[in-house]
This record gives sequence, C-alpha cells and structure tokens, in this order.
Amino acid sequence: MEPIVGIDLGTTNSEVAFIIDGNAEVLKLKDDGILPSCVGVDDDGKIIVGEEARNQAAVAPDRTVLSVKRLMGTDQKIQMKDSGYLPQEISAFILKALKERAEKVLGKSISKAVITVPAYFTDAQRHATREAGEIAGLDVVRIINEPTAAALAYESASSETQRILIYDLGGGTFDVSIVKIEEGVVEVLSSTGDNHLGGDDFDQKIMDMLAEHCERELKLAVKKQPVTMARLKRAAENAKITLSSEPYAKIEEDHIGKKAWKDIHLSYELSRLDFEAMIEDDLERTMDSVNKALKDASLLPSAVDKIILVGGSTRLPQISKMLEEKFGRLPHSEIDPDLCVALGAAIQGGREMGLDSSSVLLDITPYTFGTSAIGELDGAPCMTRFVPMIRRNTKLPAAKSDAFYTLYDNQEAVEIKVCQGENPNALDNIQIGKYKFKLTPRSPEGSVIILNFDLDLNGILKIEAIEKSSGRKINAVIENAFSTFTEEEMSDSKKRISEMWGEKAEAEEEESVGEADGMPPDLAEALRKAESQLDSASSEDRDEMVNLMEDIRDAVKEGKLEEARELWKDLEEILFYLG
Ligand code: AMP
Repeated sequence: MEPIVGIDLGTTNSEVAFIIDGNAEVLKLKDDGILPSCVGVDDDGKIIVGEEARNQAAVAPDRTVLSVKRLMGTDQKIQMKDSGYLPQEISAFILKALKERAEKVLGKSISKAVITVPAYFTDAQRHATREAGEIAGLDVVRIINEPTAAALAYESASSETQRILIYDLGGGTFDVSIVKIEEGVVEVLSSTGDNHLGGDDFDQKIMDMLAEHCERELKLAVKKQPVTMARLKRAAENAKITLSSEPYAKIEEDHIGKKAWKDIHLSYELSRLDFEAMIEDDLERTMDSVNKALKDASLLPSAVDKIILVGGSTRLPQISKMLEEKFGRLPHSEIDPDLCVALGAAIQGGREMGLDSSSVLLDITPYTFGTSAIGELDGAPCMTRFVPMIRRNTKLPAAKSDAFYTLYDNQEAVEIKVCQGENPNALDNIQIGKYKFKLTPRSPEGSVIILNFDLDLNGILKIEAIEKSSGRKINAVIENAFSTFTEEEMSDSKKRISEMWGEKAEAEEEESVGEADGMPPDLAEALRKAESQLDSASSEDRDEMVNLMEDIRDAVKEGKLEEARELWKDLEEILFYLG
C-alpha cells in the first residue's frame, strides 16, 4: 500500500506525520518534529531549509525567506540571493524537506500527501498549495482545512455527537471553525477568520516598539538597517514566548549599534500587561470572528461542547482566559497545539489509504463563488451584479449551474467573470477568473448560456460554459493575474527547483554510501560514527557495540525500523560514555 503522509504546511512551522501502528505520529529526526518554514541560500549558494535557514535570517535577510505562506496565491516574486522565486516554489523547498524527512524516518520513498490549509484560504491559495506539492514531487491526494484536521486529531475515535469550536491562531493566520462530529462523520458547520493575523503581528508590534525605543532613547537609526531589524524581530518573538509563562521579559541585545565609535547595547524590560495591551485589538478581532462563526452555525455559546486550541500562538494565556469567559469552560490543548493539525492530516492520509473506512470527512467552502451579470442593486440597474453560484458554507463537493442570456442580436461573445466573496457588487469581490466565450454567429437576443460551477473537495473550482442552442462548450482559461501555472511553467519550475535541491541530495547521498539497502541515512550515519569509535572502546564495550550494530542492521533488514531506533538509543548511550 502506497504511504500517504499528512503535512501541516504552516506559516511559521511545518510538520509531517504518518500512521504508525494505528496511531498518528509526527515524524521526528532527533528533534521535536517541527521544521521552521524558512528557506534560504547559504554562503555556498546551496538551498537550506528549516532551523539552518532560520538561524541565518538575522544575518542574511536578503537570502532568507520567512512566512512565505502569507504570499501563497499571489504572483509576487521573492528574491533570494540572485534568483526570483514564486511563493509556491519556496513552499516546494519546505515540502521537499518534509518529504525527505518522512523518507528517512520511514525508510521508504514517499510520493503522496494530504496537505492542510487554513479554512479561510482562497481558491488561488489552494491552487498554489497544490502546485507547491507538485513541484516538490508530491501527489497531493487531498487538501483539507486545518481546523478539520485538528478536530480529527481530537475526535476521530469518538462516537458521541459533539459540536467543537476550533480556535487556531498560528504565526500568520487565524481561523475559527465549528465542526460537528457525529458517528465518525466530521461536518464543518461554519468557518471564518483572517489570513493576515497571527503571532508574526505580535512580534512586529514588539519589534516596532523596540525600534522606536532604539531611535528615541538610544539615538540609533535602526529602522533602515535590515540586519538590526531582523535581530529585533527575533528578540521580540523570544520576549513574546517568555511572556506566555512569565510576567516580565528582559530583552538584551548587545552591540545593537555604534555611536561615536562606542558600542551601544539594548536592554529593555517588557511586562505581560503592556504586551497584552499592545495586542488587545487583535485578540478582540479574533473574538469577533468567534461570534461570527457561532452566528453562521446558528449556535449559542452554550451549545458548543468543546473548544480546541490549535497553533503556537494559543499558548498566550490571555486567549484561554477570553474563551473561558465567553464559553464558561476551559479550552482543550492536550494535544500539542503545534502538532495537532499534522496529526489530523495523517489520520486523513490513513483514511485515504483505506486504513479506516468507518468515518468520512465532510468539508465546506468558506467563500461564496459566483459570477457577474447585469442586474439590479439597491433598486438601480447594475452592470456588475454579483450572482452567487455556490454559497459560502456549502458542503463539498458542490456543483451548481445557472442560465444566463445574451443581451442583443448577433452578440459575438460573452465574457464570464468568476468572483469570490460576499459583496452584492461583483467589483467588490475578488475576481479569480475571466473567460471569453465566442458565440455562434447570428445568435438572437436572449440566447441561453449555461454556466456550471464545480467545486471539488480540495476547493478547486472548475468552470464550464455551454451554448444551449449548439451544445458548444468552452475550455476556460484563467486570464487574470492569479498564479496558476501553465503546464509548461509547472514543468520548468519543477525542473529548476529539483536541480537546486539535487545538489543537496547528492551531497547527502555521498555521505550515505556503503550501507545496506533500506537503511535510513540518519541510522547509516550513526552506525558509521559507532564504527569509528570501536577502537577506543574497552573489549567489553566493543563486543556490546558490535552486537548492537548487528542487531540494528538485522532489524532494518526485517523492516523493523522502530526496533532499530530503540537499539540505537542503547548504542548511543555507550558512545556517550566513550566521549
Ligand atoms: P504555528 O504557525 O502554529 O506554528 O505557530 C507559530 C507561532 O506561535 C509563532 O508566531 C510563535 O512565535 C508562536 N508561539 C510559539 N510558542 C509560543 C508561546 N509559548 N507563546 C506565544 N506564542 C508562541
């Protein structure tokens, strides 16, 4: 059975998880399984991902990319050293790193994944996520909403009917959703949020305050110094995290600048109360969304059975306090809020593999999709009246069709605009596609054009226009500026990104030569390290080491990777004492 991993492609951090012995587990490589969603180019021009990239962000902001998820779905080119990349290409590097991680831990090749996105992600953003997977060499079998994944992580085994509110505040996005779980079926009742609100904004507020302090009190012009600002941002995030458990955070940054040839150091104490006041408006906005989600689901707060916290930023104590005040009960965070979504994605991956057929997943569209036509608005004629086709919160997959009419005799063509949003005037909604449909010559006024909208489980929208009289159809092409790749662009990008990644893969391959088939590279490296230390061991230790090494190789040959890793821990203990 081909493995399908679950991936949480987060703004700040990303994780990959898989079902092992019936349980979802985040795949870890001697770390906590959390890969910072950072991509960079190192001093030698090689692509680096994760902690390594994050560590260079302060000193090399011009060749490091953070929070790329915020740009998904746009055409904005991101400059990294000498090359420009689209957001999905940068994301593909993160996915490649997660794919490699999964292959190392599981000892098999991975080509399929379930990837999560915020429920509030637009169609273009979902497209871009799928493209990122494709560029990374992953077949994205399903895109699911992050809150849905979180609910699965908590409740996939429960048989009770429950209404769950998922409050998800990560690094760059905020989602609140209400789901109903009934006999293993997950149904999203409502979903709303803000895809530009998260922990990054809180860091930014502290950083701005620190920059102001540097300029005013220390008389240092830091705002135009990208390296210094990157340092302040890092310091700001650390202070914020400290304030989740302590009432004060001390911010100390030595050598932050020079004045009259003298080194200037930054020392600032921030109190939790001051920080809470800084972000109060942001948190109130999240509660407005909570109210909207309740309203959309037609529920009173008392009808919510459980509140789940997801995303690193929900560790701010103020959030639990606010939710407790509103709902009269404490929110749940027993499953690590950073890992919860990846675990749910793995559960869905397992279901796609057929491991659990007892429950199905229902999803909804967070947006209304529609078109623009001549109509009436507030009693006056309107050339751009928004005509909803698939309404917000409709269960997916959804297909809707409607008839439209030509305006005059001999009309040569119609222009079909596809918009996403809630505003009655299409101009105020987001245009996600524009198609031109040439009509049969000499058609009379009032000829019928049937428009079909087909929204699949991943939130991907397909449009079809049919001229009723002739049965002719159009294969629509999106003409707007959204970043859907053409096939050619996709294959070029795939080649370019894998070539850049290839240099790294080759280097790693060189390191791992000479090991038995199926041996994960990290274990292979560990065994080589043990081998090199055999000479310095006492004869008793040496015997034990040799036995353990043999047992590890045997376990790998038999496909018992867990066992091999347990044995490695014993071996590591001996190596530790050998120094
Ligand atoms: P996520 O996007 O879910 O990975 O969340 C990452 C965000 O959570 C970042 O903005 C982190 O700074 C923030 N974060 C992580 N730990 C804490 C904490 N203990 N208190 C406040 N924010 C945190």
